[in-house]
Amino acid sequence: MSSSELTVTGTGVVSGFAYAPAAWTRERPVPPSTTKTLAEEDRPAEVERFKAASAAVGQRLSERASASSGVAAEVLAATANLATDRGWVRAASKLINNGAAAETAATAATEQFVEMFTKVGGLMAERVTDLRDVRDRVIAELMGLPEPGVPTPDQPVILLADDLAPADTAGLDPSLILGIVTRLGGPTSHTSIIARQLGIPCVVAAANLRAVPDGSPILVDGSAGTVTLGVPVEEAEAKVHADEARRRAIRTWTGPAQTKDGVLVDVLANVQDGAGARLAAETSEARGVGLFRTELCFLSAQTEPSVAEQARIYGEVFAAFPGQKVVVRTLDAGSDKPVPFANHEHEENPALGVRGIRLQLNNPGLLERQLDAIAQAAEDAGVDRPWVMAPMIATVDEARAFAALCHDRNLKPGIMVEVPAVALLADEFLAEVEFFSIGTNDLTQYAMAADRMSSPLANLTDPWQPAVLRLIKMAADAGRRAGKPVGVCGEAAAAPHLACVLVGLGVTSLSMAASAIAAVGVQLQSVTLEQCQRAAEAVLACATVEQTKAVAAELLG
Ligand code: PEP
Ligand code: MG
Repeated sequence: MSSSELTVTGTGVVSGFAYAPAAWTRERPVPPSTTKTLAEEDRPAEVERFKAASAAVGQRLSERASASSGVAAEVLAATANLATDRGWVRAASKLINNGAAAETAATAATEQFVEMFTKVGGLMAERVTDLRDVRDRVIAELMGLPEPGVPTPDQPVILLADDLAPADTAGLDPSLILGIVTRLGGPTSHTSIIARQLGIPCVVAAANLRAVPDGSPILVDGSAGTVTLGVPVEEAEAKVHADEARRRAIRTWTGPAQTKDGVLVDVLANVQDGAGARLAAETSEARGVGLFRTELCFLSAQTEPSVAEQARIYGEVFAAFPGQKVVVRTLDAGSDKPVPFANHEHEENPALGVRGIRLQLNNPGLLERQLDAIAQAAEDAGVDRPWVMAPMIATVDEARAFAALCHDRNLKPGIMVEVPAVALLADEFLAEVEFFSIGTNDLTQYAMAADRMSSPLANLTDPWQPAVLRLIKMAADAGRRAGKPVGVCGEAAAAPHLACVLVGLGVTSLSMAASAIAAVGVQLQSVTLEQCQRAAEAVLACATVEQTKAVAAELLG
């Protein structure tokens, strides 16, 4: 690093390097602050002025929707609808009829909806950015200003923003926008989704991004989550070229996943239903399913599906991978995955509440019926002793009770390692069950006491945290002692360098989104098992998350 370099760090959500001048999104308009009440006779014309502006914005967004395709078209059309939404226009018109200027009314009407959406929470709360985006477009139109948001560059740039609204990101041209960095947002925000779809490097939650001036050349590293100013041009371009070669290798990679010295690695897919399993089987080199999240089949189910209906649904996943390993997880309902028919009453702290196995054990018959359905589906598919695991296990007694229910039905019992208690008592737990699957998403959340959904805490909810790596080692070591498999099915398995470290720690399978498999395969084939083991040893000696990443990157290339 040269002495004039400045690095801003955020959360990397799409890996890869990009180097180009920074281009900040155009400022949002500042409406005139007026408390003057409009004269009664001017109000009808002001309502018409507001309606004309919202119609013009809606029309422009619709035209862009027609010129786009796929997700971009859907997002633009949805935003166009918001601009002319009857409820919003009515609320603003009412305010104007009470004497407010159109710009003031647009702001106040939007805030009414923002408050409502925020109260509802979840997906509705995520639409707040869209609402405010529409408000700003309409205000700019009212003030005769250019539309705020993404500039139209005449040379490739890296787009910088506080946050991007869907309408900003939809229709971006990846030959002109080489990367995206936002000050806010999280791994599941619209920005991340669109960047993933475009395949351009993306970093979110970069708190100090304002330190990067418009127009300055920057190097974005989407896996480290960094933005660096002042990198010598040749150095930056070498990184971008190497990255292009890596992306080409990913596009053309074919399995099986193995290290450079030919050690096969069991790489599996995470799926949520039959359609997802079929897609994984058709489009990836997955050798089976390492995590079937059954709760995701029932997110809108008001009543518990019958055993026969459940068996039909689970059977689709067995059918997608005939003769291959399929690990079914029993309902992980609660917290961030509410399942209406199973959920517990409102809790102050749902991530620490009655979720996963706690819900099942307290809901008479729910778990038994699900296990019956899994056994039925396996029998129909000709699978003997299917792998079944329980989420959120915290005590040896829970593991024993779960294993007993599995044994009664000829199912192979395993548990997720998500609660640190399981890693700490790994030998005792493995005496009860036949395998572990480490859920690094929750294991990190609970080890670091940091909500996995929180964007400001992204640095803590990083599975590269040394404490998390040591817990993984404890689980892997216990597996080796007991001669039982220990897989990883959290997001950590999908991060190429971390996947190598996990192999070095002795993890016996890696399960991830099917779309992540090729990148992990390419990384694995570039290193030997010994290199993975050395990287594992080195990260275990680290005290900070920055060190674990840096030493692994150095040893794994
Ligand atoms: C995990 O916690 O890492 C995991 C795989 O489970 P989920 O993400 O479904 O909670
Ligand atoms: Mg989990």
